Amino acid sequence: MENGNSSGDDKSLRKPIRCKAAVCRKAGEPLVMEEIMVAPPQPYEVRIRIICTALCHSDITFWKLQVPPACFPRILGHEAIGLVYVNLSQSLIFY
Ligand SMILES: [Zn+2]
Repeated sequence: MENGNSSGDDKSLRKPIRCKAAVCRKAGEPLVMEEIMVAPPQPYEVRIRIICTALCHSDITFWKLQVPPACFPRILGHEAIGLVYVNLSQSLIFY
């Protein structure tokens, strides 16, 4: 997923952004690159500009899964490296 707005400043954190994502629409079907809208981070959430990601075994399992808890459309790649943007007007605790 790529963040179309790279500034990550406090103002941009209050607006939805457009991103590119490889979306899985149905179990086992090829991923499709789509433009998606991402809502601004809510309290106690952060925005992450993904630099790179990969598909792990869990992603592959959920990509092929045709019974609950299968859920589509789905964006795979939860193990990523990225830059974390924080709304500095909120207090955050990192564990
Ligand atoms: Zn994983």
